[in-house]
Amino acid sequence: MNLFLKYITFSLAGLFGIVHTSCQNGTKNPSKPNVIIILADDLGYADVGFNGSPDIKTPYIDQIAKNGIHFTNGYVSYAVCGPSRAGLITGRYQDQFGFSRNPLFAPKDVSQGLPLSEQTLAEALHTVGYKNMAIGKWHLGAHKTQRPLERGFDEFFGFLSGGHRYFPKDLNRNDISEVTAQFDAYNTKILQNNTRIDEQEYLTDAFSREAVNFVKTNAHQPFFLYLAYNAPHTPLEATEKYLSRYPEIKNEKRKTFAAMVSAVDDGVGNILKTLRELEIEENTMIFFLSDNGGNESKGANNGSLREGKGWLYEGGIRVPFAMQWPSVIKKSQKFEHPVISLDIFATVAAQSKINPKNPLDGVDLIPYLTGHMSQPPHEAIFWRHYDRDAFAVRTGASKYVKDRNGKKGLFDITKDISESNAVPDSLEIQKLKAQYDAWNSSNIPPQFDGLMQNKSYNQTHPNRFKDVEKY
Ligand code: CA
Repeated sequence: MNLFLKYITFSLAGLFGIVHTSCQNGTKNPSKPNVIIILADDLGYADVGFNGSPDIKTPYIDQIAKNGIHFTNGYVSYAVCGPSRAGLITGRYQDQFGFSRNPLFAPKDVSQGLPLSEQTLAEALHTVGYKNMAIGKWHLGAHKTQRPLERGFDEFFGFLSGGHRYFPKDLNRNDISEVTAQFDAYNTKILQNNTRIDEQEYLTDAFSREAVNFVKTNAHQPFFLYLAYNAPHTPLEATEKYLSRYPEIKNEKRKTFAAMVSAVDDGVGNILKTLRELEIEENTMIFFLSDNGGNESKGANNGSLREGKGWLYEGGIRVPFAMQWPSVIKKSQKFEHPVISLDIFATVAAQSKINPKNPLDGVDLIPYLTGHMSQPPHEAIFWRHYDRDAFAVRTGASKYVKDRNGKKGLFDITKDISESNAVPDSLEIQKLKAQYDAWNSSNIPPQFDGLMQNKSYNQTHPNRFKDVEKY
């Protein structure tokens, strides 16, 4: 085909693509798909139906995988909440900017959160006219310069800390000026933008309600919804409505955990239903994933994966991960190559024609998901656990891990998903270690004391909770 014909074909395809999309979605901005990221908290790999959960039922979350892509090798950039979220929201390895620990709840300390030099996906989408809302757990800084409304979101409904109580009766601290210890923040009233409100519903249901309202209100324009449920993160708290779905589960922790996941699943169902009713599902990209692997001592199930939350074995970093975008991506596909949460920013940026402020570490997945490219999206994926001098690197089937206890091993992940048989291939180990060192050479040390330093931080910051502004 000569160049001219190619151009004509391309243009016609583009034109029909636009007409097709425009008609189906009723949107004036077909080139700007709506974006919804649904992030679960501490959900294990085998805690969803599409990854074979034997006991938890997730019919609506499973629909996302059925309507699009089931990523079997979907990773996050870290094995605990804060750093993983920093990676997700910036599209960059968080070690590049020193967000390598869970931040402390310290509203007067500007260093405890996402550096202002970083651009969030919401800030990037603002540059092309999106309306953005964050719902749920923030955990990227409680300082007044780092809250969601300062980081690109037009609306916020949720809380600033790393976790929260679920029942309205426990939301008994009026605002952050009444927080006097790290975990007190779990009891604060919920924030609606800058106002503390008296929420009456079970927290997960409240977040789903607000998500549906945001979609309804903004259906006529490109929007980005960052729906970061804190479920099923501890404390394990569920209502009878969801507990009653699991009479056969006898273990109380597991039963409550399952019920909490069901609440998330109902929320996903309500959002999907709303998108369909408004006829905007076709041009909405929905990503579903967990921020890190499950903690099996707190009710989660990582299936065959080794270890869990806090570890760089698969159980800590490989998560339930699915996506749908019906107008572009064919349904019922499995994608086996490794992908990472950082790819979400890169994918959205490419599709929404954003020029990101900082270099991204992720990859636009769309050409791979539509079959235009067949090689793996990533040559290598890396993880660093700075405080334990631990790391992991995966290239193709090979993964080399130095774990938090200093134990090293090379594994063939495609044959040995449980990382149980270390392969004594010193040449391959050398190669992977060299790749890791090259990547790590541009990283910086953590820029703040984290949750593990809570005690020493209190000693060096005796006024941490004194004279905190009401908010
Ligand atoms: Ca988490």
